[in-house]
Amino acid sequence: MEKDDLKALIKEQNVLFNTNSTKEIGYRVQKLKKLKSILKSKEDELYEAIYKDFKKSKFDTFTTELALLYTDIDEAVSKVQKWSKRKRVGTNLLNFPAKSYIYPEPLGTCLVIGAWNYPIQLSFAPVIAAIAAGNTVVLKPSEIPSATSNSIAEIVNSNFEKSFFHVVEGGVEVTTNLLELKWDKIFFTGSVNVGRIVYKAAAEHLTPVTLELGGKSPAFVTASCSLDVTVNRIVWGKFLNAGQTCIAPDYVMVESSIKDKFLQKLKERILEMDFSFKNDNYVQIIDDKNYQRLKGMISEEKIYYSGDFDVTSRYFPPTIMSDVDFSDKIMEEEIFGPILPVLTFDNLSEAIGAVKKLAKPLSCYIFTGESAVKTRILDEISFGGGAVNDAVMHIANPKLPFGGVGNSGMGNYHGKAGFDAFTHQKSVLDKATWLDPSVKYPPYSMKKLKIVRWIMGA
Ligand code: NAD
Repeated sequence: MEKDDLKALIKEQNVLFNTNSTKEIGYRVQKLKKLKSILKSKEDELYEAIYKDFKKSKFDTFTTELALLYTDIDEAVSKVQKWSKRKRVGTNLLNFPAKSYIYPEPLGTCLVIGAWNYPIQLSFAPVIAAIAAGNTVVLKPSEIPSATSNSIAEIVNSNFEKSFFHVVEGGVEVTTNLLELKWDKIFFTGSVNVGRIVYKAAAEHLTPVTLELGGKSPAFVTASCSLDVTVNRIVWGKFLNAGQTCIAPDYVMVESSIKDKFLQKLKERILEMDFSFKNDNYVQIIDDKNYQRLKGMISEEKIYYSGDFDVTSRYFPPTIMSDVDFSDKIMEEEIFGPILPVLTFDNLSEAIGAVKKLAKPLSCYIFTGESAVKTRILDEISFGGGAVNDAVMHIANPKLPFGGVGNSGMGNYHGKAGFDAFTHQKSVLDKATWLDPSVKYPPYSMKKLKIVRWIMGA
């Protein structure tokens, strides 16, 4: 789409928004239900597109791309009336006689920019929130999984009016053009570096942003953990989508007394889970650039376990690195692939201190049987969200706001948090006219000041 077409698109959406029709609850519910029924009817097309881009199975596509969207839509449909209701709050004595209200109001015309790793989920989940909140939306999915991007555009653009919800496909150039326009909200999912570009562009128009970024998410494993369950959950969370998951455990900090047992069990479970293409248990690395990037992160001498690499099919075997420390290359940036570095610790304070030297992560996982350990880590490390004795699954609870902090992002979504991300809380004092005390009007006096202080309890 050319610049002028994008300008015309945003104008069209502004016009629709200003008719106030998108604010009606019935309209929101109808569009959300429509989106769900379209996604359901197009599941086969989406499975095919995802398979082309990732070699991903139907099972994984349903559980990691579609299921969350259906849950989010159902939650929004059943709660949108309640969420968008005007809320009465108390009024202080200084404002007596009056009533005070908070009116949740949609922000307007919103831009959603998606990342490539879960292209369906990361595109539609913010859109669901934007629609539930009463906005119009332009979605720019990631161009990297091109079959999925094409499919999303075809599905949306042939079923929704352009003035309400439209998909614009493209890469850096199109996104740059989109970012020059004045939006009422920008919701971005992607890397820290592009997050900065988005934030700067939004600042030009003072547009509010939600930034869903990444980082190095640690998993702490202490000697008191339930080892078999811990290994199951780490292996699943790490190698799901071949590690191309923003909330995958990036690295493990294991207590040194159980290191050998832990590594041995990791290897056993990886073999048992059989991460191969032949049984559709695994996905390919998204492109050659990422494949080579990941290969370059491995230090051969620290490989504890790996498998046969195949560049042609972009098969990258689950790879464990041991005896890793914070100065290794693998610890420099987010891995975003199927390499699991294992570091050890003896002293929890030192381990926490070392993790805190890195940027605030998107997630943190704590595998332990001791509640004191859990409390310490939760109290001392700042991170977006996470789990105790599990990995990744916190994303599947719509009651938990999802988002980063510091370098891993700003703002939250999913469920009510998503609704709030696309909503302005308009505060209104509704004052009665039967009383108009003269105390606040000039001419002022010491007596008036005394009264004001008495009213304020100051
Ligand atoms: P990316 O930042 O390269 O791309 C994200 C989007 O930005 C794409 O739509 C792309 O077209 C656009 N883009 C890329 N370069 C741009 C530029 N120079 N100017 C304007 N727009 C540009 O990210 P990615 O590679 O798609 O995703 C990987 C990153 O996203 C990882 O860091 C991962 O942790 C993070 N991520 C975060 C979440 C989350 O929910 N917090 C989810 C998925 C991925």
